[in-house]
Amino acid sequence: MAAVSRPVAGTGLVGARRLVVKIGSALLVDEASGRLRRPWLAALADDIAGLARRGTGVVLVSSGAVAVGREQLGLVGRPLRLEEQQAAAAAGQIRLAHAYQEILGWHGITVAQVLLTLEDTENRRRHLNARATIGQLLSLGALPVINENDTVTTAEIRYGDNDRLAARVAQMISADTLVLLSDVDGLYTADPRSDPAAAHVPQVAEITPAVLAMAGEAPPGNSSGGMVTKLEAARIALSAGCRMAIALGTRRHPLSALDGDARATWFVPAAEPLTARKRWIAGSVAPVGALVIDDGAVRALGQGKSLLPAGVVAVDGAFERGDAVLIRDRAGTVLGRGLSAYTAGDAARIAGHRSGEITEILGYSGRAEMIHRDDLVLES
Ligand code: GLU
Repeated sequence: MAAVSRPVAGTGLVGARRLVVKIGSALLVDEASGRLRRPWLAALADDIAGLARRGTGVVLVSSGAVAVGREQLGLVGRPLRLEEQQAAAAAGQIRLAHAYQEILGWHGITVAQVLLTLEDTENRRRHLNARATIGQLLSLGALPVINENDTVTTAEIRYGDNDRLAARVAQMISADTLVLLSDVDGLYTADPRSDPAAAHVPQVAEITPAVLAMAGEAPPGNSSGGMVTKLEAARIALSAGCRMAIALGTRRHPLSALDGDARATWFVPAAEPLTARKRWIAGSVAPVGALVIDDGAVRALGQGKSLLPAGVVAVDGAFERGDAVLIRDRAGTVLGRGLSAYTAGDAARIAGHRSGEITEILGYSGRAEMIHRDDLVLES
């Protein structure tokens, strides 16, 4: 598989070499009937075939399994329990896959289904396995259609939304462009449904607190994402050097429209891409704990140094060696994330101590660093 695709300048899809498109449930499935919107999907397939013809490698991350399956199983008119969602996903996913196979087949495109769980992206070895499989499919000319494996995920270990999953997939396969097809045409300064003064934001270079403040609450209905998870997806994509668009998907031919002058919000990465390992760390979606550090350590990290036990003032959460954790300052601001060289228990015991004391405190000689700088990524 190619190393990092070069960031593509500007907006539109021209120049995209490897593109991930996320398709939300609300676009694909008619909420009232639970039926797939086949004419809409057929128009999207035309767009995809056009992109494939000009050499863009396309990967779809499609929601809709639960929305389709719940109707089939008669689970309608009320919120579903997790087990019911899992059952609905099992019944819906097979229908979803069949529709993609048939409709993309009209263009001679072979689809291949890949169902991922959170562990498949958060565990480095499994992440590399999934990356290799998707890369292999692309090099064989197939079009991967990806969804979360909802049937086997539990409440604690699931994405639950395909926005972040799609961004993690984009990072995983070194995509240069990610498009989230949605029922809105981008980010607004406030919720446009309730605030007439809300203004559309055409371009974002950094996910600042001001940008985060623009996202409202998650909407009701089948969509589980909302703007909050879209901005989290943008954070993952930008840290991977991948540009991302939030674009209106409700129209026919949404990708052709984006290629033209359709309004969208483009998130454009500024910085040079990190190494593959650091991109994986930066894209971690489920850090299981946090290390709170003192001001001296904040300065040291800013100078590119490792995090030493001496600079850690508190340890939160339960984590194992090698797990991703957040790094916070005393005020609670997230400064970055990294892989802890110690379990939460051992980290708490050596926090505040010099590295030379580690062997005496723990009874074994561990690493001098709590998080080595090679395992650490600061927020930009
Ligand atoms: N994986 C879910 C499904 O296929 C969708 C998650 C989402 O709504 O983003 O139904």
